[in-house]
Amino acid sequence: MGKFNLQNIIRENIKFLEPYSSARDEFKEASSDMIFIDANENPFDTGLNRYPDPQQNLVKEELSKLKGVQKEQILLGNGSDEVLDLIFRVFCEPKTDAVIALPPTYGMYKVLSSTNDVQLINVPLVSDFQPHVEEILNVQNECTKILFLCSPNNPTANSFDAEKVEKLLQKFEGIVVIDEAYIDFSTQESWLSRLNEFPNLIVTQTLSKAYGLAGIRLGVCYASEEIIIVLNKIKPPYNVNELTQKAALEALRNSEETKEEVREILLERNQLSNDLLEVEYVEKVFESDANFLLVKVDDANLRYNQLIEKGIVVRNRSNQILCENCLRFTIGTKEENKELIKVLKELNSLVIPANQPAAGRSRNLRR
Ligand SMILES: *Cc1c(COP(=O)(O)O)cnc(C)c1O
Repeated sequence: MGKFNLQNIIRENIKFLEPYSSARDEFKEASSDMIFIDANENPFDTGLNRYPDPQQNLVKEELSKLKGVQKEQILLGNGSDEVLDLIFRVFCEPKTDAVIALPPTYGMYKVLSSTNDVQLINVPLVSDFQPHVEEILNVQNECTKILFLCSPNNPTANSFDAEKVEKLLQKFEGIVVIDEAYIDFSTQESWLSRLNEFPNLIVTQTLSKAYGLAGIRLGVCYASEEIIIVLNKIKPPYNVNELTQKAALEALRNSEETKEEVREILLERNQLSNDLLEVEYVEKVFESDANFLLVKVDDANLRYNQLIEKGIVVRNRSNQILCENCLRFTIGTKEENKELIKVLKELNSLVIPANQPAAGRSRNLRR
């Protein structure tokens, strides 16, 4: 690597931008006996009448201890989605720059490239759901600012080979974002431990999956201090609200509970995976390093609709590349997983003759 110079890939307007300075940014040495009449807040104490800490210091301190990363290398957002959007806006010039994603993968990379008017270059995974390293390096040019690696990947559930990721970190000349939303379920080590080796690395994580806090919207971004400073310049000042900061703090201080839930989910994942193989029309259950299973069936559209009629909603991924006839099942509670298997086995006996499509089937023969 060596040649990587952050200043060369930041958008010009961002480099020279003067960030908004909030009341809380300008006066930080708060002590509780002071009078605060600087932010046009309502003075009557409700527990929420004050603006939240724009730098979420307490949450970052907890994350710093938990993950062994310096506080200055952390940025928090309103979900990973906001974090990813900030990364786009710092590095990608609309109508000029491009990003690379490796489908089948998380849908937000595509949505964010559209909303930011940035070209998306797709380099599909190869058949074992691993990155096509040579092809990625082949398509990179001075406009490809970001490479998104989702590992463990959604919806394929596998992690990318560490040697392949390392090669990309060394040879890709833009920013490499490793989306680790599912890292807590993985047998692989997080790339956080290598953060200081790669100046172009950004790792994103979330409290939405293992921590069971999808409702509070808290995404975490780890990178060099230099990158975090730039992202900080453009984030909305109070992007993480007070209720979210409180709930996050509580969860992070009790992270043993999360670890216990993760252990249970992993046991259930094994059980569900075995049980699925007993369903006659299940053709393949892919290896999972996450809290969901990608499952190949005989006819994904048919099974998807039949499940909905039985009150079970799964994700139909069958129109994504390499995911033909695949459904994605999130690991539920023991009872939910049992019910899923029971219902799936009942569907088996309901197979509809091909020449006599039922309502549920004909709706789905569009393609
Ligand atoms: C669920 C998920 C996220 C989480 O996004 P939040 O906005 O933090 O809820 C991020 N990346 C991937 C790949 C996901 O599947």
